[in-house]
Amino acid sequence: MKLRVILAILAGKLVIFLSRILGNQGTAMPGKLSRKIYPGILSALAKNITDEIIIVTGTNGKTTTTNMIAEIIKEKGYTVVHNKAGSNMIIGITSAFIQNTNLTGTKKFNYALLETDEANVPLLLKEVKPRVVLITNFFADQLDRFGAIDYIINLIKDAVRNTDIELVLNADDPLVTHFHHETGLHCWYFGFSDTEYDNTSSTENREGRYCVFCGHELNYERYHYAQLGKFHCSACTNKNPDYNFIGHNLKMRPSIDFQVNNIRITSPYQGFYNAYNLLATVSLAKLIGIEDEIIQTALAKYQPQAGRMEKFTINGKETILILVKNPAGLNQTMATMKYYATSKNLFLALNDNAGDGRDISWIWDADVEMISDKNIAVKKVVCSGLRSGDFAVRAKYAGINPDDIIIKTPLQEGIKAVVNGPGEINYILSTYSALFETRKILTAMERENTETPKQLTAEA
Ligand SMILES: [Zn+2]
Repeated sequence: MKLRVILAILAGKLVIFLSRILGNQGTAMPGKLSRKIYPGILSALAKNITDEIIIVTGTNGKTTTTNMIAEIIKEKGYTVVHNKAGSNMIIGITSAFIQNTNLTGTKKFNYALLETDEANVPLLLKEVKPRVVLITNFFADQLDRFGAIDYIINLIKDAVRNTDIELVLNADDPLVTHFHHETGLHCWYFGFSDTEYDNTSSTENREGRYCVFCGHELNYERYHYAQLGKFHCSACTNKNPDYNFIGHNLKMRPSIDFQVNNIRITSPYQGFYNAYNLLATVSLAKLIGIEDEIIQTALAKYQPQAGRMEKFTINGKETILILVKNPAGLNQTMATMKYYATSKNLFLALNDNAGDGRDISWIWDADVEMISDKNIAVKKVVCSGLRSGDFAVRAKYAGINPDDIIIKTPLQEGIKAVVNGPGEINYILSTYSALFETRKILTAMERENTETPKQLTAEA
């Protein structure tokens, strides 16, 4: 058996080595091959984790939350196995272990931090034994791939039931809070107290509108965003649980500043959804015993990842790249635009490849009407990607003047049009399969921009 472990690792590492030479970033192949040679490889390597295995799942915010927790763990000086964005299925997680281990498969790590696709939680729990599972939230996302959100929630509930896992849960999401009642597991809760950004009514599409216990429509005192907020059911006892980690004094103009219990957190991130990611991160870091100063230092210097509010400077204008993939994410992105008083150019690359979810009707569930708000001051909307025309129609119905809507299906042309728009800031939104190409174009444009003055000097 030991020989097969070594063979599996060797084969996996060879594939990683070859794909580096060939310049592709495939993260599935090494895991796939290793598992074929020795199906128990992930379980075997997971035994090398000396402290804790932590799983992060939920619809939105998994990648950002997991990356920030990893930074804190590293800041503390601990070692960690961490799977990167885009490889959150079981084979991607196996690849991450293969990449980090030594040839004999005996290298020890303090932590494993595993971002896990919701549908993969049951499979993963058959192979690794985490202490903690953190659930960020549940929103309708890529329904054509996963089926209804209820199905996913039940899948995870069944997988954690009868284990000794501790759950870290979003106390403001009624689709998450009922896990305690239905699994009996020990739960820790994070949530926000009242903020100045709350609404007392909501026009957004909300999956969590009805009580999970009795089906009655929930009453909300406040909405933080989407179905996240302060709720109770008038027909039964369902309401937000007591918080263990409470976010308060939230400021988001434009970047985030708030307190979690008595720790002050500042971050270069923007938007309420990122405030939740930060709150989830801090809660988990506190739970595993990391000191406040280390958490604060790691988060203050943490820079957003590719496409998660990454900033570029093009023609002297701030240009922000953001991945959007579902109504809640798009709504939150549009909401962050309010924090900038300056006028904006907006670009959306809308694709419908398998990685995006084939069904793009979600753009009709998003509250795109927000961008016709005078305070947000959107001057130009550029629609790009394979389904550019669909978003153009959506923008028109949202009240944007048709003269301000441009359709440029090829990404290069679309980005060129948006950065030349009249607004003072560029917001570049992209669905998953267009993200890397979009980022490449922005990176090249930024480089061209900074190199031009130098060339001029040389010529003069
Ligand atoms: Zn109820």
